[in-house]
Amino acid sequence: MFKTENPGNVPVWVNKDNCKACDICVSVCPSGVLGMRYDHTSTLGAMISIDHPESCIGCNECELSCPDFAIYVADKKEFKFAKLTDEAKARQAAVIANNYMSLDQQGVK
Ligand code: SF4
Ligand code: SF4
Repeated sequence: MFKTENPGNVPVWVNKDNCKACDICVSVCPSGVLGMRYDHTSTLGAMISIDHPESCIGCNECELSCPDFAIYVADKKEFKFAKLTDEAKARQAAVIANNYMSLDQQGVK
């Protein structure tokens, strides 16, 4: 699979040109890392946002689930990922309850 280069020591990154804002990666992340943000420059009105990279556990679920090969996860040999915490799990539950929208954008239309 084609994978864009890690932009610089990050656990997870996105090729925004390929993202179609389907929410799938947000729905499968166990650790509350991702969320959608309203983006009027996107044709779909939203764009994936990596809100909490420090919580990424490197499970690869987002990369494996993305239908458009738009999100990538660092190699376990090259990046030290976080452990899954109760706080991260609770944040993920809150993101799901917020219809996959970033918690940082609650109430924004
Ligand atoms: S699964 Fe892929 S296309 Fe869908 S929102 Fe995530 S990065 Fe974008
Ligand atoms: S690798 Fe796992 S924890 Fe990290 S953003 Fe993707 S789904 Fe979330």
